[in-house]
Amino acid sequence: MRIDVITAFPPLFQGPLSESILKRAQEGRYAEIVVHDLRAYAHDKHRTLDDSPYGGGAGMILKPEPLFECIEKLQSERPYDKVILTTPAGKVYDQNMCKRLSMHDNLIIICGHYKGVDQRVIDALVTMEISIGDYVLTGGELAAAVIIDSVVRLIPGVIGDGESLLTDSFMEGELDCPYYTRPPEFRGMPVPEDLLSGDHKRVNAWRSKAARKLTRDRRPDLMAGQEDEPAHEKKKRK
Ligand code: SAM
Repeated sequence: MRIDVITAFPPLFQGPLSESILKRAQEGRYAEIVVHDLRAYAHDKHRTLDDSPYGGGAGMILKPEPLFECIEKLQSERPYDKVILTTPAGKVYDQNMCKRLSMHDNLIIICGHYKGVDQRVIDALVTMEISIGDYVLTGGELAAAVIIDSVVRLIPGVIGDGESLLTDSFMEGELDCPYYTRPPEFRGMPVPEDLLSGDHKRVNAWRSKAARKLTRDRRPDLMAGQEDEPAHEKKKRK
């Protein structure tokens, strides 16, 4: 998969893309992530990216010309499955959208900034608008990093133990169960006996029950319309 990110602030991606799973995914050639400096597509003396909004008011707007030039250049080089804009006005991002995006070959993600992006970019070029939640960020860079991280980790092979993905929260319509590691007792807090039993059936039954309880307590909305089989049970059959 190739993801092209367009931003006025490329350094914001240095950390997220150069550590942990995203680093390994790029080194292993599962994902190619290319960050484009929008300023390279601004041709006036000051490389201007923004201008004041027609009609007045506070805030600056990302101008259409650099975005059109950058996106059209990319589209002349390869076909893209989606041209995504990060925006509070988009569809709120969830694991189902993430799963679908992970099946594509080429994505463009545009990071808005300032007060927003000239609407003509959205009308003419954007095919999907994504919000990462009902709050306002300074720019789309962190939202794009969230999308990239969540999508790339689903590409087969990226996570060594692919099975671990299957029981992650939201993958099968419920939250993941609680986990414990050594020592078996810490400050008077013991690990549940079933998990120490060495009996996979008992362990899975405990995990299924715990995941269901957590989901029912915290996110009953996830269970609505779900078939009555927990993720840890399904995983066993896969
Ligand atoms: N004026 C815009 C509004 O109220 O909807 C907010 C602009 S925000 C300061 C600047 C940029 O950050 C946006 O263009 C968008 O790219 C990004 N952004 C802010 N909040 C976001 C969110 N919840 N999800 C995705 N992107 C977001």
